[in-house]
Amino acid sequence: MYNKVLVTGGTGFVGRRLKLIRPDWIYISSSDCDLTDKEQLFKFLSDLKPDAIIHLAARVGGIKDSVENQSEFFYLNSLINLNIIHESFNAGVKRVLSCLSTCCFPDVNDVYPMIEEDLLKAEPTETNYCYAYAKRSLFIQSKWYSKQYKICYNTFTPSNIYGPNNNFNADKSHFISNMIRKFYQANDGDTLTFWGTGNSLRQHLYVDDLANIIALIIDKHTTDLPLIIAPDENISIKEIVLICKKITKKDVNICFDGNLTGQYRKDCSNEKLLDIIGDYKFKSLEDGLRGTYKWYKNYRLKNLL
Ligand code: NAP
Repeated sequence: MYNKVLVTGGTGFVGRRLKLIRPDWIYISSSDCDLTDKEQLFKFLSDLKPDAIIHLAARVGGIKDSVENQSEFFYLNSLINLNIIHESFNAGVKRVLSCLSTCCFPDVNDVYPMIEEDLLKAEPTETNYCYAYAKRSLFIQSKWYSKQYKICYNTFTPSNIYGPNNNFNADKSHFISNMIRKFYQANDGDTLTFWGTGNSLRQHLYVDDLANIIALIIDKHTTDLPLIIAPDENISIKEIVLICKKITKKDVNICFDGNLTGQYRKDCSNEKLLDIIGDYKFKSLEDGLRGTYKWYKNYRLKNLL
């Protein structure tokens, strides 16, 4: 049990939802401490002296953002990650739990669902190649600092995340928030166009499930494995769009344009997670989408958008 827990990326999508569950932890953004600046970071950690750090901060974006800004994704994420691990070690922090993503896993694997040991078995997919390598380095650095210095620095790997407080901005959003915005803005009879073929399979994790699980594994996850956090449901993009159409009751036509197809599948197993935390009931995608659509509608109305 850690008393003073610092959360980086505390103003982001995941950080804000984690704060609802653990308001007693300390949540920071880049304006509290710029993680690309190692001197600033070392001073910040030496003054604060946290018992543990949950490292969520990253340069994050959807497929278009990632494809168009590979260099930035590599440089900023590598710098942030190198600094957080090294300066935490320098400042005497004994526990750092860092966030990866299932898109760091191989583009194609022999067996599905993939397991933790598959992480570095083959190249990641091209569309988020640089983001994936910056995250893979975070895994390596955590593992080897722990081995050499007898500290507990390790990682967890969520699948695609969605839910309230997501970024719904057209250029930067991920698939689900983009889809929800499109449905919200659509009138009956409109045609909604989505990237890709609609056939790709995805595991979508409701953000509050992730937040609950992070709060559990900070104490319980002690190995060097990149612990996978993913629901069992692995559903095609086309099916997800149809669930959203049902929920929103919009009489629209759906079309896929074949662009930015992304990885075909990347489903990962939650078996090791459940061994650690016991049985956990993930929110179904249909319930999660219903809740997220309701949240987004209220958000638009409240902000008169
Ligand atoms: P997000 O909403 O984009 O938030 C990013 C957070 O990182 C913000 O709090 C931001 O602070 C902070 N940050 C960025 N650059 C920083 C810097 N130089 N110094 C300090 N803080 C900095 O991200 P998210 O969606 O919550 O993602 C959280 C974690 O989950 C990330 O590690 C991401 O890779 C991982 N993940 C996300 C998804 C997904 O679908 N979203 C899927 C799998 C894994 P400011 O507000 O000051 O900019």
